[in-house]
Amino acid sequence: MLDNPPNLLRLSASVDAFKTNKRHCFPSKAAVRGSLLEMRRSNTVAFVSAGMLSPKKRDHMLARRQLYLNYGALSLATILNDQGFKTLLVHGEHREPSELLDALVQDGTLPSSLPVMLSIPSFYALGWAQRFCKLVRLADPCAKIIVGGRWVVGPDPGWLRKKLPEADLLIPGLAEPVITSLLTATPIVRRLSAPTPQFVLNHRLVSGFERYQPSIEASRGCGMGCSFCEERDIPLEKLLPAEQIAAALAMIAGQYGTSDVRPYLQSSMFAPNLNWSTCLVSAVRSHGLEIKWRTESRVDALTPETIACLAEAGMKVLDLGLETASPTQILSMRKSAHPDRYLHRASKLLKACGQNGVAAKVNVLLYAGETAKTLTETRSFLDEHNEHIAGVSVGPVVAYGPPKTANILLHEWSGSGCVAVDSRSTDETGITHVHLSREMDAESAELASLDMSRRYMNANAYYRLKSFSYYPRDYTRHDFDRDVDASDKSRLPFRQ
Ligand code: SF4
Repeated sequence: MLDNPPNLLRLSASVDAFKTNKRHCFPSKAAVRGSLLEMRRSNTVAFVSAGMLSPKKRDHMLARRQLYLNYGALSLATILNDQGFKTLLVHGEHREPSELLDALVQDGTLPSSLPVMLSIPSFYALGWAQRFCKLVRLADPCAKIIVGGRWVVGPDPGWLRKKLPEADLLIPGLAEPVITSLLTATPIVRRLSAPTPQFVLNHRLVSGFERYQPSIEASRGCGMGCSFCEERDIPLEKLLPAEQIAAALAMIAGQYGTSDVRPYLQSSMFAPNLNWSTCLVSAVRSHGLEIKWRTESRVDALTPETIACLAEAGMKVLDLGLETASPTQILSMRKSAHPDRYLHRASKLLKACGQNGVAAKVNVLLYAGETAKTLTETRSFLDEHNEHIAGVSVGPVVAYGPPKTANILLHEWSGSGCVAVDSRSTDETGITHVHLSREMDAESAELASLDMSRRYMNANAYYRLKSFSYYPRDYTRHDFDRDVDASDKSRLPFRQ
């Protein structure tokens, strides 16, 4: 990796222009003393994935162990690295922002002559990002802070600007087409979309990469119109060719130096046909791969024949967005206009998973208008398919986003008696918890969610699913048992 890549002379000139023009940086002597200004600047582009001050669902020790690879930020870091820039991606996880900043200073990454790229993957990471920005600005008044994260920046950049006054630039869309320009004096900040990347993520750019399970972006978008989902209107792109996926699996094994990795094929709706799946089997065989992987889909997007084929190609876990089995709720979520057909296909798919050794993890969403009756309908369906279900993830719907977007959802939901628990939180945090209906308030929805999780999942099932993708790769069953012992059992979503 080159500190001053020779093929980037033109860009380097722009960067120099940026360095001199960017901000009137005349800190007081007191600010200079003891600040990063006194230190030599690196030429590293530091990508920081904002962490969380507390876990997004229930706070317990096990939740704090989970790692989420920020593959969007890694995609940008990979592009810049391929162009010769020295790049690094660090994840805030559950560390204090000050701890992470200290580590970046200690290892010489900061201060840098190039921008700090802060990626905010969800509204739960906003508080962490605010603290981090303040600390960076305090330590280095000349730092350029660029903030991205399409789901958080995109809905209302004006709102986010007030939350992050220290940020120099907010990038509202996908940054792949403009990432190089962000290092220059003339950054492009237009809202843009970008196709599914054709390159393999360089996981070695991630600090402590061995702890994270890798990702392959298989396709972007969905466009199936579910009312609560941010991807509802973003059209589904063509899946990468099967041969390309197999080649990516092989490259990832090379990056990690082992086939003992569990890549996540990232796709909001992984929907290959039988032909594509057959090609994947051949391609995986011709590369001599035996890698187990996981992906996510709808319950009506894959046929049993396709499942059999994908299982042969290494698919071991499938996250399924069933969301509900109540015909009323299927309609109000706009999950499908044909609940009977939807549930029939869900049933066939779950059985196919069971028959082919694929662990089906079913996502259930308690939605606006939920009642004891609708919940019973979902529970009956899950009971019927219990033997084919490896685990569940259950939680009440939450309105994400600033008032500009969240209020549209809240207004729609109000028709079924759903109201915000605290309407101020929309503007304050971008996270609005709700009472689902007149019959089911937020507290009973949380209790019903825990109850349903425990009904279908014991500690073994939970550990198997979480350790496949989300726990650090070196996290053992012994570690898990120790953490269970140290946790508040009333908050754990599985039975002992
Ligand atoms: S199928 Fe899934 S990803 Fe697509 S719109 Fe519905 S919830 Fe979103």
